[in-house]
Amino acid sequence: MPDIIRMLPESVANQIAAGEVVQRPASAVKELLENSIDAGATEVKLIIKDAGKTLIQVVDNGCGMSERDARMCFERHATSKIKTANDLLSIRTLGFRGEALASVASVAQLELRTKKVEDEIGTQLIIEGSEVKTHCAVNTSNGTNIQVKNLFFNVPARRNFLKSNSSELKYILDEFFRITLVHPDITFTMFNQERVLFQLASANLRQRIVALFGSNYNQKLIPVEQQTVMVNISGFIGKPEFAKKTRGEQYFFANSRFIRNPYLHHAVEAAFQELIPKDSFPTYFLYLELDPANIDVNIHPTKTEINFTDSKSIYAILQAAVRQALGKYNLTTVLDFEQEQSMEIPPLKPGQTINQPQITINPDYNPFEKKKEFQPSLRFENQGSKSKVGEWRENIPSSFIHPGNIPSAPLAELIDNLNAENNFSLNLEHDKTPHAVFQISNSYILKETSGGLLIIDQQAAHERILYEKFIAQGSTDKNPRSGIIPVTLSFSPDDAVLIKDLLEDFNALGFDISEFGNHDFVLHSIPVDLANTDYHGAVEQALEALKNDFTGKHAGKQQIIAKSLAKSSAVRRGKSLKKEEMEAIHQKLFECKVPEFSPDGKPAFFMLSFDELSKKFKT
Ligand code: ADP
Ligand code: MG
Repeated sequence: MPDIIRMLPESVANQIAAGEVVQRPASAVKELLENSIDAGATEVKLIIKDAGKTLIQVVDNGCGMSERDARMCFERHATSKIKTANDLLSIRTLGFRGEALASVASVAQLELRTKKVEDEIGTQLIIEGSEVKTHCAVNTSNGTNIQVKNLFFNVPARRNFLKSNSSELKYILDEFFRITLVHPDITFTMFNQERVLFQLASANLRQRIVALFGSNYNQKLIPVEQQTVMVNISGFIGKPEFAKKTRGEQYFFANSRFIRNPYLHHAVEAAFQELIPKDSFPTYFLYLELDPANIDVNIHPTKTEINFTDSKSIYAILQAAVRQALGKYNLTTVLDFEQEQSMEIPPLKPGQTINQPQITINPDYNPFEKKKEFQPSLRFENQGSKSKVGEWRENIPSSFIHPGNIPSAPLAELIDNLNAENNFSLNLEHDKTPHAVFQISNSYILKETSGGLLIIDQQAAHERILYEKFIAQGSTDKNPRSGIIPVTLSFSPDDAVLIKDLLEDFNALGFDISEFGNHDFVLHSIPVDLANTDYHGAVEQALEALKNDFTGKHAGKQQIIAKSLAKSSAVRRGKSLKKEEMEAIHQKLFECKVPEFSPDGKPAFFMLSFDELSKKFKT
């Protein structure tokens, strides 16, 4: 039997590595920007076409490369950043594996121009799928200029796997934010489809945040500053009253790298507890500096999860730092920090536990007091008398709506047929008695019908009613609008990209939103059912739902928006309802196509039949 093991060709090995390092255009953007920063650039330009699928170009004024280095940098494991394994322990650069350029070059058509200051002439290289096509001298400015064209041109499966341009652009923006937020001193310009998307001058952190997320951020930020032996924390948190309905701007950086850390996130959330509504998210840009020895070294290039050797102490310090910042600005709690400036928290000894910082809270302070209370409205057109559809549903044979006995085909259709065949005679007299409808636990509507006791979950039912209303009116483009004084809606740039794509869908559902340049939009009118709702919050929530539901092809996006709007504006469990409101929910629910379930599939009602009831009392 002949030997069968052989070495993989270099280009194949690179492509395999690329599978890990370059998952999508955004990963190439990250690697190229990090290289420019490692090269000491003070000015970096990022040029994107078709969400990076056609072109990703990074131009920097960094140290540049010699002719030999320009060729070498595309070899796998070729790096100037470490020489020995020991260097790994004190690494301060962003890259060091020497894999990025080799990987990118294996799955794209790449052109490099580079020149060191001290050299007269620069070097040009053209590489396609790891194959060097051109290597020559060229006249070029100091620094490095890399163009990555047609990413995955030779791996169609990966190219097809890419999402829509707006999703891929959002990933790119995520990386761009994470990098530009760590280097406010570096000037960045980003072009998208030949238009400037961001022009970020060299600045301090506050100015950088404002340049990225909009001038209204200036008044939203509270500085956080805490120095301890174990970790230094700096950065900003958002004032609680600006907490958003979407996860939005939540950034942790450890030693100048963006990280994800749910445990630390929890520390910040805990510090904000009771200062922001339950469904809102605090904004934060927090920078941790600590001895690299206290971080579990992670040498995976794309990983953002890292662990700390003593996360418990970091958790406590972070939470205290955020609370202190909140307290200093006198927003909520009055903090009782004796030694405000010198909070030294020594590392914990094994077995030792942490005591929460002592905080005095003013129990009378209610940060939401001034805000208008969230008051979902029940707005049903008064139709005078009950419609036919509403009427016959009173007489649905109980077996049809018995829980666990719901026919799988939409009930509405079944009953429609039934109704047509049998022509029920209706007797609604009992509805007119004063006890015909009532509410229990401020959550459920009870009503006697000819079949038994009908129990409706008010929230699930109202969500269903609103959802079908939005959808039906969306399809006929006759959604009643409620004119409001035009208001400007500002979104984060990535949300702005998303919403631009979705304007038509929002407008079909009864909004009138138009673009107002930059990341701003003007809202002229809203669907009538949102009139008493926090509509900015409702739009943000709809965007969040779309992001979470994103299939890349915007499948059923109007449904997703409608579902989210219905959720935002529906009456909640726990709200006491007037008799007319209960009647309206009851009536409108049974005019729905699918009255059995909320748009999320939760049961909206069930029926306790008289048969069942009498069985209960039989001995
Ligand atoms: P790593 O960054 O892990 O070292 P890369 O493949 O990203 O690996 O880059 C390989 C080498 O190419 C780097 O170590 C660096 O010496 C050089 N290099 C890459 N990009 C630039 C740049 N923009 N300016 C100067 N040198 C660069
Ligand atoms: Mg690199």
